[in-house]
Amino acid sequence: LTPIAPLQLTVVAQQQPNSVVTPTLPSATLLPQTTGVAVVEQVVTRPPSQWQPPALIPPISRDPYGRDHYIFARPVDSNANNAALLSYTFGTNGPEGEAPWRIHTGIDMPNPIGQTVRAAGTGTVIWAGPGFQESPSYGNLVEIQHDFGYKGETLYTLYAHLSAVLVTEGQRINLGDPIGLVGNTGRVSGPHVHFEVRVGENRYRATYNPLLWMVPYVGRGVIAGRAVGPNGSLLQDQNVTVIDNRTGLVVQATTTYIFLDNGSDVNSDPLWKENFVFGDIPVGRYQVITNIDGQRVVQRVDVSEGMTSFVDLALQESSATVTPTASS
Ligand SMILES: [Zn+2]
Repeated sequence: LTPIAPLQLTVVAQQQPNSVVTPTLPSATLLPQTTGVAVVEQVVTRPPSQWQPPALIPPISRDPYGRDHYIFARPVDSNANNAALLSYTFGTNGPEGEAPWRIHTGIDMPNPIGQTVRAAGTGTVIWAGPGFQESPSYGNLVEIQHDFGYKGETLYTLYAHLSAVLVTEGQRINLGDPIGLVGNTGRVSGPHVHFEVRVGENRYRATYNPLLWMVPYVGRGVIAGRAVGPNGSLLQDQNVTVIDNRTGLVVQATTTYIFLDNGSDVNSDPLWKENFVFGDIPVGRYQVITNIDGQRVVQRVDVSEGMTSFVDLALQESSATVTPTASS
């Protein structure tokens, strides 16, 4: 057992005059760190110009066919960075041109060490500390088993790489409660919170894309879709781009899920059966673009607040506009 040291929490003065200062938590416990970086900040605030609008209030399911399940809150505040790292989205293997990283089972939100991490929903803490499931990769981790399920399945959320853990196993937790501080423990390239959603079983192979479970912001929606090859199979590690239909500017780009068939693959949503997702897209009209067999496939889509808009990308005249790619 590693000794547990008391945490000296100090609120660091912020540069911005309007920054929010909350009281220091009295009974936090600092867990052993692998990095040696001291935890000194409890409130980390970006300039108000970078703040996000407030998130919608979970749970919401606005899809007329009941396919949506935005039942979790966001794990960090709106004045923190909520955007998932686009170079390492769920189900992908990291930045292009680098040696493949492990397939990503969650989303990463880069934030300074010390940013408060909050419970995405009511439940019970079932893990609080390092060594989660015999893996050093997650660093200090909090896992919550939620009080609510989805279609008869148990739901879990995980918050990894924490610099400090503010809860203990067995503790009851409400939505929004502080559960830890952002850190860089475990296998990381920089400080961030890794947010993971598991459905049905508390196993590595039971992860689903958090962008389909975590409420979008006010005025934002989600695009999910399938990129399918001529034989009907899901195209893997395929570039997909969203452009604004009016301006033609790129809004987001990602790659499709990779399935290794090794028993611990990520999962498509059972109802959407997607292999890519774009989160927090402002309400509006977009084009979703990919290349299949050298042909440019474009699908137009309207994004509505708090809902998933789905696109099928395939070489079918009936469902997509197909134009030959200009040869260079
Ligand atoms: Zn991660």
